[in-house]
Amino acid sequence: MQITFWGVRGSYPVPGAATVRYGGQTSCVEVRSASGESLIVDAGTGMRALGNKLAGEAQGRPGHYHVLLSHVHWDHIQGLPFFSPAYIPGTQISVYALLTAADELNQVIGGITRAEFFPQPLASVPANFDFHQVEPGVEFTIGAFTISPIALNHPFGSVGYRIDGDDASWAYVSDTAPFDQVLHKQHFLSGPEPLSTTDQTSLVAMRAALVERLRGCDTVVYDTHFLPEEYAKFPHYGHSTPDQALDICVEANVRRLVLYHHAPSHTDDQMDSIAASYLAKGALRGVEVLTSFEGMSIPIGSAPSFDEPTRPGTGVHDVPQVPK
Ligand SMILES: [Zn+2]
Ligand SMILES: [Zn+2]
Repeated sequence: MQITFWGVRGSYPVPGAATVRYGGQTSCVEVRSASGESLIVDAGTGMRALGNKLAGEAQGRPGHYHVLLSHVHWDHIQGLPFFSPAYIPGTQISVYALLTAADELNQVIGGITRAEFFPQPLASVPANFDFHQVEPGVEFTIGAFTISPIALNHPFGSVGYRIDGDDASWAYVSDTAPFDQVLHKQHFLSGPEPLSTTDQTSLVAMRAALVERLRGCDTVVYDTHFLPEEYAKFPHYGHSTPDQALDICVEANVRRLVLYHHAPSHTDDQMDSIAASYLAKGALRGVEVLTSFEGMSIPIGSAPSFDEPTRPGTGVHDVPQVPK
């Protein structure tokens, strides 16, 4: 397998001079098997350029695309209406997410193309959409991939995905808070709330289940939105730090951690310093820590035919090639 990052930001897109090298688009990762099958994980604004690439490959022919959503916050769905293959008649787009019912997911995704927000309603887009509810702990397969959803700690819920294929495994863990100070539920938190004994038990169980599902993964892509000093101010926002991600990866015996869902306020220079600092911290604990940037492709497991990752600002992967 190979994974490619099309959007690495959290919250909202931040194109501009300070984010040229790491990129300003929001969450979207593509995974491709050695046989060429692919999945899309999250549909932030990075999905637009990915869609252009896939539409170029399709050369006008309809395809079947599978989109796994962690949750439906803006930075994970905003690219969907701008996904070019959706405008090729006969195309099928299967969307998977954690919601109480597939019908509700239909309404949420349909909602972002309401007339107030977008000129064309979902129902009249040429592609057909189908919606699937996922459940933490209940595995399913899509072609060459086995997918295992994992419950995460985020306002109104979110799921990570462990994805196995080509005799290798990786996981996408975004968005999530750590599992100590705050338990996110189905209501807005204006600050940390006192934890009941039941809450504490739930957090311990959620963390243990996450570690268990990540065990032995080659690569884990993790929500590391905050630096520790930022997290201290906003522990109830539902995001983690690289240190918290590293602790989980060490416990789960993960080979490589990829920092992801970067805070929109972090400039390229700050990202360089975060990347260098956590590469060194990870090395001390036996985990390779990479910092994702837009256009980065990395092989999962042993896949010598795939390109090695390049550094931001230095390689052909910096800017995804978008057909004109
Ligand atoms: Zn997010
Ligand atoms: Zn979120």
